[in-house]
Parts: sequence; structure tokens; C-alpha cells
Amino acid sequence: MKSIILASNNKDKVKEVKEILKGYDIISMKEAGIDVDIEENGTTFEENALIKARAIMKLTGQITMADDSGLEIDYLNKAPGVYSARFMGHDTSYDIKNKALIQKLEGVKGSDRSGRFVCAIAVCFPDGREIVKRGTMEGLIAEEIKGDNGFGYDPIVYLPEYGKTSGELAPEEKNKISHRGKALALIK
Ligand code: IMP
Repeated sequence: MKSIILASNNKDKVKEVKEILKGYDIISMKEAGIDVDIEENGTTFEENALIKARAIMKLTGQITMADDSGLEIDYLNKAPGVYSARFMGHDTSYDIKNKALIQKLEGVKGSDRSGRFVCAIAVCFPDGREIVKRGTMEGLIAEEIKGDNGFGYDPIVYLPEYGKTSGELAPEEKNKISHRGKALALIK
């Protein structure tokens, strides 16, 4: 079985990708002993995923996969978008970030609270081939934080069909319907 390096330092993403791609030998940067910070200066999820996958493929010479993802809120002109991790600073807790986003939507009702998680997965091969695919999970920005599962913005993305936030879904449930699950299914 060929190993795939996952160009991410985000332990929550690594966990989800490993769960979704059970049966593949996914090696995190930490496991591969790679400690680099790659500047994500693209303007789209696809560009940033490719920037990360290319950089680590060049460094290791091995098949490399990268995930770039985030939350788009339509009322905020798709912010925080590609800046989702950097929104209010990397070190600010998600409790504070989530409360701030709910605050920004005060008085906004119903479908005007629409948003989505977006995930672009890029794979770069040593022979120069590159693949990039996108998955999305549509929802509404919740009026309150709910759920202890998942990570990041999961507790404020309400999924009307499930009557729950993404943070209230069991991990197996989330992986079946999530932006990451869908992008990885296309990559497979
Ligand atoms: P990046 O792709 O490393 O730039 O960061 C993606 C950021 O988007 C994460 O740090 C989270 O804030 C957010 N995000 C991406 N996917 C998810 C998810 O599945 N649940 C919750 N937040 C997510």
C-alpha cells in the first residue's frame, strides 16, 4: 500500500481524514517528522490546498495530500472563508470566534443566516500530476453555540435536515455528509 503524506498540522483535520480514508496509509506531518509552516497566500481554498500539497511533495518526494477548508457566511460576503483559521487570530479560542460570528448576525433571520463549510483537497504526485476536488456542507448559522463534537466552527453550523449543529453529530455521521467527506470521496 502506498503511503500518502497529509500536509496539515491541524490534529482535528488529520483525525477526520484518517477516519474517512480508513484503509489508506495516511501519514501526518508530525508522524513524518516534518515541521514547517507554509504560507497560505492563495485566494481560494483550491489554491491554498495546492500550495500546501506542492510544498510538502517537493520536500518529501512522496504523494502528498492537503486540505484547505473554512466556513463561508453569505450575510458576511462569504467571510471568514479562506481566513477561517486566522479569523480574530490563530490563538483566539473557537468559543470566542463562534460567539463573535453569532453577534455579527444579530437580528438576521431564517435563510438569511445561510452558510457552508467548504473543503478543497489537493493531491500532488512526484510525477507532476495534481488533483484538486471540492466538497461543501450547507447549513444555517445557529443562534447559539451547541454541541461538543467536531472542532472549530462545528457548534455554530446548524443543519436543518438533521435538526442539529455539526457539533452535535457523531463523528461517523459528520464524516458521511461533511465537506471533507465529500471532497475525499471525489479524490478516492
Ligand atoms: P486551514 O484549512 O488550515 O486554513 O483552516 C481551516 C479552518 O476552517 C479550521 O481551522 C476551522 O476553523 C475551519 N474548519 C474547517 N473545517 C472545519 C470543520 O469540519 N469543522 C469546523 N471548522 C472547520
